[in-house]
Amino acid sequence: MNNIKENVKRILKEVPENVIVIAATKGRSVEEIKEAIDAGIRIIGENYVQEAEKKFREIGKTVNWHFIGHLQRNKVGKVLNIFDCIETVDSFLLAKEIDKYAGKKGIILPVFIEINSGREPQKSGVFPEDTEKFISELSELKNIKIEGLMTMGPLVNNPEDIRYYFRLTKELFDKIKEKRLPNVNMKYISMGMSDTYRVAIEEGANIVRIGSVIFGQRG
Ligand SMILES: *Cc1c(COP(=O)(O)O)cnc(C)c1O
Repeated sequence: MNNIKENVKRILKEVPENVIVIAATKGRSVEEIKEAIDAGIRIIGENYVQEAEKKFREIGKTVNWHFIGHLQRNKVGKVLNIFDCIETVDSFLLAKEIDKYAGKKGIILPVFIEINSGREPQKSGVFPEDTEKFISELSELKNIKIEGLMTMGPLVNNPEDIRYYFRLTKELFDKIKEKRLPNVNMKYISMGMSDTYRVAIEEGANIVRIGSVIFGQRG
């Protein structure tokens, strides 16, 4: 058994049963991704539309596809031909565009709201204090359904340093879930990557997005 398969199996064994492991596959080849799928990965996360289109031709719907990159409005139509969920909704205009294309396709697309939990000006995502209002604005869009929150959190050297941001995102998740807003069914918290997924799970993540621990360092 090669490394990718071993890595996937080890991680799937390690995480609690309720936690979904997304393989973050930017920059990885179709062959590498197929090994991860063979070992039990059921959702792959891609950041770039063009890259995903190429891979989708070979991999197709054998797995679910989550969009985890920054999405430009003019790419929404293409994204909806591939992806089953968009984790990075962070503006009303983007949500409206997704809603429009989903309506054309006759589907209701699951989306997550990206939270800029570190309130970093250069990063995308909704500031924590704006999230409730933002989600209630989106709940008028009938062809999307809001199913969760996603956060990256600030870059840290010590995984402990990101705990605060994950906890903040989980608190936000609980608060919004309690409100029972129309079109909102809060189920997923997507946070934690290779260096931080353990802390994320401790703080309530039920989706982790893992790249390098599965595939090795990116070249
Ligand atoms: C690349 C990426 C990951 C995975 O990062 P690793 O550190 O390689 O595990 C997770 N989430 C997003 C949004 C990414 O772009």
